[in-house]
Amino acid sequence: MAQTTPNHTQTVSGWAAHEPGGKITPFTFKRRENGIDDVTIKILYCGMCHTDLHHIRNDWGITMYPLVPGHEITGVITKVGSNVSEFKVGDRVGVGCLAASCLECEFCKESQENYCDKVQFTYNGIFWDGSITYGGYSQMLVADKRYVVQVPEKLAMDGAAPLLCAGITVFCPMKDNNMLNSPGKKLGVAGLGGLGHLAVKFGKAFGLHVTVISTSPSKEKEARERLGADDFLLSTNPTHMEAGRRTLDFIIDTVSANHSLGPTLELLKVNGTLVLVGAPEKPLQLPSFPLIFGKRVVKGSMIGGIKETQEMMDLCGKHNITCDVEVINPDQINEAINRLAQNDVKYRFVIDVGGTRKSSENQKN
Ligand code: NAP
Ligand code: ZN
Repeated sequence: MAQTTPNHTQTVSGWAAHEPGGKITPFTFKRRENGIDDVTIKILYCGMCHTDLHHIRNDWGITMYPLVPGHEITGVITKVGSNVSEFKVGDRVGVGCLAASCLECEFCKESQENYCDKVQFTYNGIFWDGSITYGGYSQMLVADKRYVVQVPEKLAMDGAAPLLCAGITVFCPMKDNNMLNSPGKKLGVAGLGGLGHLAVKFGKAFGLHVTVISTSPSKEKEARERLGADDFLLSTNPTHMEAGRRTLDFIIDTVSANHSLGPTLELLKVNGTLVLVGAPEKPLQLPSFPLIFGKRVVKGSMIGGIKETQEMMDLCGKHNITCDVEVINPDQINEAINRLAQNDVKYRFVIDVGGTRKSSENQKN
């Protein structure tokens, strides 16, 4: 049953999961009226993040059904509230994972809303008015202006959508750890999926030497030839991993499933840093010897703040960086989820929510 909240009077069509392991089906629900600080967005595209899959399956035990996933949203503004001067009708905008935060804490004040203790997400969150948030697998979104960014004119809206989560999630730890201003440094990217392939693109755009650490031999050719990776280590091949020992300054681990951290840590130089962004459902084992013998650091990172997200979008505009996407129609969502679960996507499914592809095909015919 969809929730009922006063002032939620706008009927929206979307797609929802109703139980772990169940199918995603068309779902009609209500969104709030456009408030004074809100913008209304006609959604054009929504990326399918692995986090959607974790939520759909209730991997983390926190899913509130019915669940309308989707936090890699691009679209066009159709309405703005009376307090909104930052955006106007017709603007091409994006919304990522953030829907609300306390606006008062040290993190909110520094536009690190992602680390606010009261942060609420675009779906499976609880908004200020008590309503459960529904995400971008839907045709329209009402968002507070503080959590919306502009999409540079140069970027295609389908390829830009995954930047709102996958992009910012790898961009921020690279920036925080001074990898964006250290050309020649050696970056490792574990897991070549949605997040991982964007880390490779950022790494190359900022002059880093990039090594992909992957379980998929089939990804090597493309990683080197198309994404520009300098090295490719098959994590299941002990000879590869031995050859890579102590070669990397910094590793971003985007792996979505349980895996062993020890061999990855051994790839780091002394004083190297491993940032975990992948979120497998079970705790990972952290062996102490690779940490002790290499004075290495392991830390985590979650998406990014809104200011950083806009900064990343602008840099993507400048360097022409978008996600490699496979655009699907809404009736292919279940098939895409199965393929995502089987690690069969290069490198992001993006749902053509607005039917843009169909209408441009019709225009051509
Ligand atoms: P994805 O596109 O499915 O990519 C994950 C990659 O992990 C796969 O391409 C695969 O790379 C590797 N992998 C998958 N299963 C594996 C296994 N059993 N053992 C070893 N490697 C395996 O997923 P994504 O959308 O990039 O998301 C990755 C993870 O980041 C998810 O857990 C997601 O929830 C999390 N996430 C975190 C944040 C954050 O803020 N921290 C934000 C977004 C997403 P290879 O084929 O190259 O091995
Ligand atoms: Zn995501």
